[in-house]
Amino acid sequence: MFGKRITLFKLLGFEVRVDMSWFIIVVLIIWSLAQGLFPFYYKGLSTGTYWWMGVAGALGLFVSIVFHELCHSLVARRYGLPIKGITLFIFGGVAEMAEEPPNAKAEFLMAVAGPVSSVLLGLGFYGIRAVGERGGWPVPVNGVIGYLGMINGLLAGFNLLPAFPLDGGRMLRSVLWGWKGDFRRATRIASRIGSGFGVGMIFLGVFNVLRGNFIGGIWWFMIGMFLRSASQISYQQLLTRRALEGERVGSFMEPNPVTVPPAISVEQFVEDFIYKHYFKMFPVVESGRLMGCITVHRVKGIPREEWGRHTVGELAEHCSSENTIAPQADATKALSIMSRTRTSRLMVVDGDRLVGVIALKDMLKFLSLKVELEE
Ligand SMILES: [Zn+2]
Repeated sequence: MFGKRITLFKLLGFEVRVDMSWFIIVVLIIWSLAQGLFPFYYKGLSTGTYWWMGVAGALGLFVSIVFHELCHSLVARRYGLPIKGITLFIFGGVAEMAEEPPNAKAEFLMAVAGPVSSVLLGLGFYGIRAVGERGGWPVPVNGVIGYLGMINGLLAGFNLLPAFPLDGGRMLRSVLWGWKGDFRRATRIASRIGSGFGVGMIFLGVFNVLRGNFIGGIWWFMIGMFLRSASQISYQQLLTRRALEGERVGSFMEPNPVTVPPAISVEQFVEDFIYKHYFKMFPVVESGRLMGCITVHRVKGIPREEWGRHTVGELAEHCSSENTIAPQADATKALSIMSRTRTSRLMVVDGDRLVGVIALKDMLKFLSLKVELEE
C-alpha cells in the first residue's frame, strides 16, 4: 500500500512522513487550483497570482490533513495506543496504529476526532473569510481562505463515508462491536461494506470515463481501488492478529541463534555472517553475555572501504524495547514491535541473557499451518 516515504518533522511526538506519491498529488493540486478553480471563481487576476494562490491552497490543504490526523493520534495516545506516525499519501493521510483499539468506545472517539476536527477547522476558515470580506482584504487572500473552508468540509464528508478503513467505517465498526460485542464480526461487516464502496467507485470511474469525463473517471477509479484493497488488508491483518493471540514468543523462537562476537571486523561480519545466513539482525554476544545487536542497516551506514577498520562491537545497537522481547510475551506483541520498527527479527531475552531469536517468517509459517488445519 505504501511506497518510499520521507520523514518531514516531528509534531507533539509524532513523526510526520510523506509518501512519494504525495508529491505528484501536490503538483496536480497546485495546477488544478491555479488553472481551474481560482480563475473560475475569481476572474481578472494575473497568472502569477493564480499560481501563488494555488501554492498557498496546497500548503493549507497539507496543514489541514496533518491537523486531522494529529487529532486522531492525540485521542489514540489518550487511550494508550502506540501510533507509528502520520503518513501523507496519495488520498490524504493516515495515523498508523500499531495495535487494535482497546474497546468500542475508544475506537469510536478516535475515529470521530478526525471529521470533527476538519469540520471545526473548516468553520474557522469560513469565519476568517467573513472577517476578511468585511475588512476588505485582497481578493486572492479571501479566495484561498474560502477554498480551505470548503476543502476541510469535503475532507470531513469523504472520511465520514461508512467505508472501512475510512473514519466513517471505523465508527460503524465500533458501533457494531459495542452492540454485538464481537470485534471480528464487526470488522468483517465493516470491511465488506468498505470493499463494496470501493467496487462502486470503480464502476463510477469506468462509467465516467465512458461518458468522456476522463480525469474525473480515473480519479474515482483510483480511490475505489485504494479503498477496496485497504479494507481487505485491514481484515486480513486482524485475522493474523487473532490467530496469534495467546501464543507465546517462546514457542516460535529459535533457541540456539547464530551470534556474533564483538571483536571481529565489520568486513569479516559481512563475509562470515550476513552472506552466510542472510539474516538482517544478529545478537552480539561476548562470553555468554548479550551486548546488543548488529544490523545490516547499521553496516550500510559505514562506507565500504572502512569496513576493515571498524569492529562489530563499535556498531552494535544497545538492547531496548525496540529490539528485544521476553519469552513469555504474547506473539502479537512481537508482531506489533516488528510492524512499528519495520524489522523481521527480535532478540528474546530473559533479564540480560539471550534465550533465542524470534523471526517474522516463523510466525507466518505457523499461521499458514493453523489456517490449513482449521479450515
Ligand atoms: Zn481521519
